Amino acid sequence: MKMKLLDGKKCAESLVTDIARKVTGYVESGLRKPHMTIILVGKHAPSESYVKSKVGSCEKAGFESVLIRLPDTISEAELLERVATINNDPTTDGLIVQLPLPRHINQQNVINAISPEKDIDGFHPTNFGRMTLGQKAFRPATAYGICKLLQYYNIPVKGKHCVVIGRSNIVGKPISIMLSNDFDIGNATVTLAHIETPRELLLDETRRADIVIVAVGIPGFITEDMVKEGVVMIDVGINRLENGKIVGDVDFEHVAGKCSWITPVPGGVGRMTVAALMINTLMAYQNNFNLA
Ligand code: NAD
Repeated sequence: MKMKLLDGKKCAESLVTDIARKVTGYVESGLRKPHMTIILVGKHAPSESYVKSKVGSCEKAGFESVLIRLPDTISEAELLERVATINNDPTTDGLIVQLPLPRHINQQNVINAISPEKDIDGFHPTNFGRMTLGQKAFRPATAYGICKLLQYYNIPVKGKHCVVIGRSNIVGKPISIMLSNDFDIGNATVTLAHIETPRELLLDETRRADIVIVAVGIPGFITEDMVKEGVVMIDVGINRLENGKIVGDVDFEHVAGKCSWITPVPGGVGRMTVAALMINTLMAYQNNFNLA
């Protein structure tokens, strides 16, 4: 099987170029630029790199971005106050509180405190609920990015058997809902597997899946014997090995040959997550200015 790469870098660049074109039009008509605010608590190396790529993408899209760095000693109450201030700032369209947060801060309390109108990560219960019900919402960025990547490469999803492995609130759960919903990229028959899924059942499912989406955080989790010839493989994992190399959850070297399409790591889903954040921020901005 001659596999083809689902190039997240190329797709993300194309989406951001489209966004930049729209922003140029809005600014030429006298509007301010879209504005993203990111709160980063503490010094977590992977978060530093994710935030850097979000700020870089804002520049390319023609957005303003502000990065607020807070010490990891900040209390939950103080952080919630900062969130409330940004919620009330009409010049900010989208707010991201970079996760993970230090252990003494309840992550869900912070997510719940972000205004749903500025929740470009799509993690707030209002957006998650609306998305689940098939209503207009900010869709969780990584899941939305995967949909956009499938769309860009015209990968058929409707009627396909899709297996999602991992049920996190930020990836596995939302992508399983989105692909099974009656969305433009959806209408698949979806199985959601997780840590309590018996191994034999998992193998039964992955071996007959048309599309496998894996988000477990274990290098080499998907092996050649687990998938059928021609599978579309979406690797969400980002794992840093001891030698510093970044790898996904798929044993790429041995699995790629069986795939019709596969995402590389890096350069796959990670890029698309940032692109989806840009789409959500543009949507927040358009909502603020009653644009189409
Ligand atoms: P998580 O780390 O919160 O949870 C892991 C999930 O994997 C759980 O739902 C668990 O049930 C499941 N799991 C663990 N072991 C399993 C097993 N043996 N069999 C079946 N399921 C098993 O999940 P997460 O936050 O979605 O992160 C998963 C991976 O995706 C990590 O590597 C993370 O870095 C990466 N990630 C990447 C992006 C991106 O933009 N590419 C975004 C978010 C997360």
